[in-house]
Amino acid sequence: MPQKIMYAYSNADGDQNKPICCNDIDKNEYETKYKGHLTCIKCSKARMKYTERKNEVKFFSTWNKEGHLHDEGCPYNVIYKGKRGRAKLKAFYENVRLDDDTILRRLKWKMSTLLNEYKEEAMKHPHQGSSKVETTEFAEVGVPVVDENGNESRKSPALRYDDANYITRDDVGCKKSVYGVIDNVQLIKEKNGAAYAYFNLKTRMSVVNVYLPEAFYENEDANGVEEFEKFVGSVKRMVESNKKNIMVIAYGDIRAKKKMGLNINVISPKRILVDNKTYFSILNGIV
Ligand SMILES: [Zn+2]
Repeated sequence: MPQKIMYAYSNADGDQNKPICCNDIDKNEYETKYKGHLTCIKCSKARMKYTERKNEVKFFSTWNKEGHLHDEGCPYNVIYKGKRGRAKLKAFYENVRLDDDTILRRLKWKMSTLLNEYKEEAMKHPHQGSSKVETTEFAEVGVPVVDENGNESRKSPALRYDDANYITRDDVGCKKSVYGVIDNVQLIKEKNGAAYAYFNLKTRMSVVNVYLPEAFYENEDANGVEEFEKFVGSVKRMVESNKKNIMVIAYGDIRAKKKMGLNINVISPKRILVDNKTYFSILNGIV
């Protein structure tokens, strides 16, 4: 049974990794335009095919015999199928260890390329929103990377970047950076003084939250719950002022929560940028 996938990248007719939804095309368009030109929305490596059932159920799945062509760490790679596959995928992500300064540097890099892309797209197509998304990895050539055990290496492990619109339950168990626009901010305070926060993102399909648990402000780079609440309050004001879309990029484990949809579990202030600003600069009032 192939996995049913809603989105794929199109490279047909001048498209460049343009995300398309299976519900937006039909059999005829597939055969004449897209066939052979669709790739995986997660890793853009393996080719995808389109299926349309008589009951109008439409979906994408991996092109026959190309399951192994997905990137290492792509949830659609054949080796990650089934229960044992999910455990393998989790093990893969647990092996990707990066220190928080490296993560922050990469988030900044990714955000700057995203903002430039949005700007370019807006200039090229002033009447259309940007639909350009990319998931390429960032290789910092020659910059040593220190892992959590203090070991230095020049080979930097992959950090994946995904648009929140394409995060689904297939990503559960993956650790990656997800970016999107914040829809609303929830700060939840418990009687014992603990707090946690959700930044709910604007997405088309799944409910996706950036989730900041207690571990976030218990981290050595943070200064406790009061500072945390101040940070969340500032982000809330930025979002509610409605002056512009507030973008967030955050790195963490993707987890499923029954009522809350999917969470990106962020456990360090150095693993998040809001409106291209760090936790620290937001606290210092550079808002
Ligand atoms: Zn893939």
